[in-house]
Amino acid sequence: MVRPPRQTKPCAFCGRPFTDRKRWSGRGQWDEVLYCSRGCRADAARQRRRA
Ligand SMILES: [Zn+2]
Repeated sequence: MVRPPRQTKPCAFCGRPFTDRKRWSGRGQWDEVLYCSRGCRADAARQRRRA
């Protein structure tokens, strides 16, 4: 099995690409991660509530 050491994907909130982190990939959570940071995650939740 060959896997790239680091994956990247765009943040669902700010659109910036961010890389996988050990604490995500180690738990198999990479697919569930949508935001590059806590700040983006919090802002996204705030926007959702407002809308
Ligand atoms: Zn972001």
